[in-house]
Amino acid sequence: MIEEKQPTGLLGLSLRELTDLVEESGQPSYRGQQLFEALYRQRLESAEQISTLPQEFRQSMGQRSLSLGVPTIEKKFVSSDGTVRYLIAFPDGQSVETVWMPDGDEGEAGDGSEAGNEVETTAGRTWNRATICVSSQVGCAVDCQFCLTALLGVKRNLTAGEIVGQVCAVLNDQSVSPPKNRVNIVFMGMGEPFLNYENFMKAVRLLVEGVGVPESRMTVSTAGIVPRIYDLGAEPVRPKLAISLNAPNDELRGSLMPINRKWNLEKLVSAARAFPLRNREKLTFEYVLLDGVNDSEQTARELGELIRGVRAKVNLIALNPGPGIAFQTPAQERVTQFQRILIAAGVPAFIRRPRGRDIYAACGQLKRTVELAAI
Ligand code: SF4
Repeated sequence: MIEEKQPTGLLGLSLRELTDLVEESGQPSYRGQQLFEALYRQRLESAEQISTLPQEFRQSMGQRSLSLGVPTIEKKFVSSDGTVRYLIAFPDGQSVETVWMPDGDEGEAGDGSEAGNEVETTAGRTWNRATICVSSQVGCAVDCQFCLTALLGVKRNLTAGEIVGQVCAVLNDQSVSPPKNRVNIVFMGMGEPFLNYENFMKAVRLLVEGVGVPESRMTVSTAGIVPRIYDLGAEPVRPKLAISLNAPNDELRGSLMPINRKWNLEKLVSAARAFPLRNREKLTFEYVLLDGVNDSEQTARELGELIRGVRAKVNLIALNPGPGIAFQTPAQERVTQFQRILIAAGVPAFIRRPRGRDIYAACGQLKRTVELAAI
């Protein structure tokens, strides 16, 4: 049973909710817009900093214990490749990890979404585009067999404010401000976003309307919660969709991802085929390659058959190893051979460069150092 948590700060409230709040306090409704700007666009961290609000209103916020609610960066690990893994803490003592990748994750390379010649600089580094990988739950219940986060189980859902708050905390730490700076957001950190759908979608809307990140620069990854794929397709504002596939048949996928027993490949691929794509948009299938398990030439051919005709690309990720995980990383040659077979079958396939492996920030490695020792 997941314990739901009520928001403790203003972060996570919509413009409508903020407007109601200021009106209840006897303030004119435009103060709601001022609060909205202060929270999401300026990302201020205390009510005292909101110079557009009258002093007595700021004081009354303090008296009513209304904090802005930006979460705290508890720890920061910086990789030799520029990736930064943040441990972000919430008032109830729970924490999640959020990853900053100053040159994106390269998973999108070659799909036409690169930033051209734009070059930004933060903390003495230059980067073309940055990606923030955001968590949606504390831990995860989905139990993919190759994932370190799965070893934690799930503790609770994050609120919309806690999801947006990770982005705000990282942007402030990096002194970066969208839309001026090009930032992508991927919901691929700890947790299954579609098992926390309402809060996740509210966070998406706040990131678009408030923080200023276009929906086209966001991607959500699901392990295959099929009904929510249909729900996402019906949303007026939504991120791009990635599906964590990892096997081309039910027997193999069921052994790697227990969720496949609830929604099998037929249901999953049908939902993928029915997903309404925008102009030039493609679905992404993510495929973690496990040595000797799902990386054979035959498996690559089967995968090509399975997704034939879907407007999609495949991101291949050689397993990021870790203690407690029973699989090994395949040799580079097996990875490139798998890619070659997909491309020959007409499926665009890309190999993702692992980011931040030395600080355990790569895919499936989150929470490794913080809590694994306690397991
Ligand atoms: S891969 Fe994603 S969905 Fe699967 S257990 Fe890990 S965090 Fe959860």
